[in-house]
Amino acid sequence: MAHLETVVGEIAAEMSARAERGTVASYIPKLAGVPIDQFGIAVTTPDGAVILAGDATVPFSIQSISKVFTLTLALGQIGDELWKRVGKEPSGNPFNSIVQLEHEHGIPRNPFINAGAIAVADAMLSGHQPREALGSILRFIRFVSGDEGVSMDEDVARSEKETGFLNTALANYMRAFGVLQHPVDHVLGVYFHQCAIAMSCEQLALAGRYLAFSGRLSPGGPSVVSEERARRIAALMLTCGHYDGSGDFAFRVGLPGKSGVGGGILAIAPGKASIAVWSPGLDRHGNSVLGSLALEHLAKAMRWSVFAG
Ligand code: GLU
Repeated sequence: MAHLETVVGEIAAEMSARAERGTVASYIPKLAGVPIDQFGIAVTTPDGAVILAGDATVPFSIQSISKVFTLTLALGQIGDELWKRVGKEPSGNPFNSIVQLEHEHGIPRNPFINAGAIAVADAMLSGHQPREALGSILRFIRFVSGDEGVSMDEDVARSEKETGFLNTALANYMRAFGVLQHPVDHVLGVYFHQCAIAMSCEQLALAGRYLAFSGRLSPGGPSVVSEERARRIAALMLTCGHYDGSGDFAFRVGLPGKSGVGGGILAIAPGKASIAVWSPGLDRHGNSVLGSLALEHLAKAMRWSVFAG
């Protein structure tokens, strides 16, 4: 098998030479100014090694990758009750689509489209003020990444709030159906701030270890969630983690992954690695162009597909 460090280095070199990089998300003004010429990759393995290349230590806005962590927390808080308010099916629609919500009586298809993540944020507010919910999200991410330096970028949160008309519409719609139980501004406050968490590829790959290693930070190490929960979250990442590009990502990469419009992707090769890639240019579905390509190359070189025997 190819040597991981060599493969990671080669991928970073190849990605930095690529001209076709997609477009930086512009609907959140604060993200529109992120230089497109960046690429980072970090891979953590069961023996505790962390392999970095390119801009792996540069923090970026994790955006929708935060939905993996809030889903983990909400399941910890209210367990399977969550599935009464949000589904588990791929949407086949853009991340901010409102059309499907009407057909499905305000119940979002899955926790990774915006409506679903907003419903998860609402669940996290049961018995908690927005500040407490945000505190628990940050504490959890700092714990799983082993890095107290992870923080929220207030400017990005404000920028998203100022232009978040579609997310506000989704939230109001769900509130009208009784799917949201808390004030819309509280729920969106949590949602916009979770999306505004800044992390580097290194921090993100470390944070994803519990999903790669059966609910533990390392094989046989401290348990974060049950093995079953880690497996189920990974299943949702595979089927729903890239919006209406999820099928294409499974086809090309074959690993559970979650993208964000900041250009990051967290992917896991169960039992083998937690991987984070970042490049701010996106495709038309809102997924990182070079991030997806890098994961495709990595999975192929290491034979890490969940569909490989
Ligand atoms: N904060 C973004 C939004 O709500 C998240 C979308 C994404 O990262 O895919 O539009």
